[in-house]
Amino acid sequence: MDRLSNAVPVGEGLLTTPLSPAENVRINGSRCSECGEVMLGSYKSCANCGGESMQQIPLGKRGKVWTYTVIRHQPPGQYRGPKDPFVPFAEGLVELPEGIRVVSALDCDLEKVHIGMEVELVVYELYQNEQGQPVMAFKFKAV
Ligand SMILES: [Zn+2]
Repeated sequence: MDRLSNAVPVGEGLLTTPLSPAENVRINGSRCSECGEVMLGSYKSCANCGGESMQQIPLGKRGKVWTYTVIRHQPPGQYRGPKDPFVPFAEGLVELPEGIRVVSALDCDLEKVHIGMEVELVVYELYQNEQGQPVMAFKFKAV
């Protein structure tokens, strides 16, 4: 049986389905048919104009780093990455072809990360929940 057949997204409506194979999964967006606003995730009404004619669109896989920071200390709360020892990572705002910017971990060499860097979507298993389901999240890696 496919290991990811019972996978769930880390946020409701955040990713396209099916979640397997992970290479085919994209981030879900919603585009307003009235004003053209694009939002991250799945929405029934527009945050910009209040319109209720929303179209679901899979967002582009490629983007550019708009800005970033390097996280050098373990974030508080339920951090799911490596803890012992903690591994520093880059987190950034990635600008997608649709014009929206998405907060994401950046999978890249911390010495080489820069504004304008080309990145590509990676959907991966972040952890397993209490029901034993793989929980799928996304990050962007340097191209
Ligand atoms: Zn709108």
